[in-house]
Amino acid sequence: MQSLQLRQRDYLLRISRAMTSRQDLPSLLRLILNSAAEMVGGEVGLLVLRQADGRLIPQAIFGLSSAKAAGLAARLMELPPLVAGAGSSRSLPELSLPLVSAAAGVPLRQVVQLPLRIEDEQLGAIYVFRSGGLAFGANERQVLQSFADQAAIAVRNLRLYEQAMAEKQRLNAIIENSANGVMILTPDRRVQVMNRSLAGMTGWAAEEAQGEPCWKVLPLENTDGQNLCAADGSLGDLPDDGSLYVEGDVIRPGGSRLTLGVTYTPLFDDGGQLRNIIVNVVDITRFREAEEMKSTFVSVISHELKTPVSLIKGYASTLRRPDASWKPETVRDGLGVIEDEADRLNGLIDNLLDASRIQAGVFRLDLNEVNIERLARRAVDGFRLQTEAHQFTLDFPAALPAVLADEARIRQVIDNLISNAIKYSPDGGVIRIGAWHDSHGITVYIADEGIGIPPAEQSRLFESFYRVDSGMRRQTKGAGLGLYLSKAIVEAHNGQIWVRSAPGQGSTFFFTLPEIVQEQLQPVREL
Ligand code: ADP
Repeated sequence: MQSLQLRQRDYLLRISRAMTSRQDLPSLLRLILNSAAEMVGGEVGLLVLRQADGRLIPQAIFGLSSAKAAGLAARLMELPPLVAGAGSSRSLPELSLPLVSAAAGVPLRQVVQLPLRIEDEQLGAIYVFRSGGLAFGANERQVLQSFADQAAIAVRNLRLYEQAMAEKQRLNAIIENSANGVMILTPDRRVQVMNRSLAGMTGWAAEEAQGEPCWKVLPLENTDGQNLCAADGSLGDLPDDGSLYVEGDVIRPGGSRLTLGVTYTPLFDDGGQLRNIIVNVVDITRFREAEEMKSTFVSVISHELKTPVSLIKGYASTLRRPDASWKPETVRDGLGVIEDEADRLNGLIDNLLDASRIQAGVFRLDLNEVNIERLARRAVDGFRLQTEAHQFTLDFPAALPAVLADEARIRQVIDNLISNAIKYSPDGGVIRIGAWHDSHGITVYIADEGIGIPPAEQSRLFESFYRVDSGMRRQTKGAGLGLYLSKAIVEAHNGQIWVRSAPGQGSTFFFTLPEIVQEQLQPVREL
């Protein structure tokens, strides 16, 4: 008896060492089963785990081939349920001796069945078989149960570990794939985890940000609210529950500006100690731009609409004053201004309607074969009458192919570009209009010698209501819709529009129109 207990101690010691050395579960279970079988002189041993669907799957085998072990496990499933308490020993006749022995291929006479159980959960069982006639004694069963308990702990630990890992992976996936920026901070406000979206917003690589103070990774400017990531270390008070919200700007490495809405939520442990701060970041740049656009729209449009209306009103009421009699040329001039201003008003209303059609997606093109050179010449003829300070030159190759286009809309683009060339060349100069043809289709250009456009402004010219902020903005009339509409029209033709310009050196606007290809010959296209 003494020696049985001593051997048991040795085996259990080996097993607990194996458990603490983080061995993988299959080799740990094999070690437990082998030890149990060897302890009691068993010839065959089987450790089965119960699956979610109730099947018993062999996880460790002793003295059997794996094919036979599977057969044996299937037979064992047909046995009555395991009894509670210490390992129960049964003699084989009771356990369908012929079936089990046949499955194992070994004549087996005795079996001990040891449940793997934690609390009320039945995880599986260890079976040890002997061919000898001696039944397993109470001592042996008790000793063997300690092995089964070790196996149960190992299985349970692994399951808990797997559950924790799966949960961690799920959380990581949620954080990583969140469209919002997410960052987890340590209590001293250093970055522990940062997701892809926030990396994109801040320009920091997630690995580089790790361990850095959050004011460095998320340097919010112009903050509106209490900033927990402030560079001056004014950490502010974290609310015990609830969160802090702040809005501010970050400048990205390329120089572009993002407006962010940041929510800081503290996480406390059971003892009330701050454990982490969860930072959730939403890019609200679009909302800010939309807000700005709305206010620009109101101020530009009210100015652009009010100017002609007050001129019309002023001239009309002056001309019809009952106490005055005007010379015929004064009347003609006044009516001329009224007519021009009414035209301007009309043009602006048309542009506004076009802009809203584009936004509503109901902008239609009426496509036909168009001769671009003829169209440009007609446009220039109209403008020549309006200016003496500007000269026009036209440069078109002899055999320029026709394009499939909406003639009125392309005329609108050319008119707008020539009108801008005049408007933004206050000192006059030559305006060159021409085109060439290559593999990209037909490229039309309108070049002036005017004030030019700073490089930083060039990408924004084509936005609606955008006007370059220069002295010219106040001197020239315009709603900032011309280039926006031109771009929409050119792109509806599958073309592109761009500008090359430098301040003081004039500007050249280009746009392309694809050459006619057979499948394009559908008369009406929607934008
Ligand atoms: P608008 O002329 O009504 O302001 P546009 O959309 O046609 O609107 O042009 C937008 C802005 O682009 C203008 O306000 C002007 O600042 C700039 N711009 C356009 N064309 C030229 C040009 N040829 N030379 C210099 N600046 C230009």
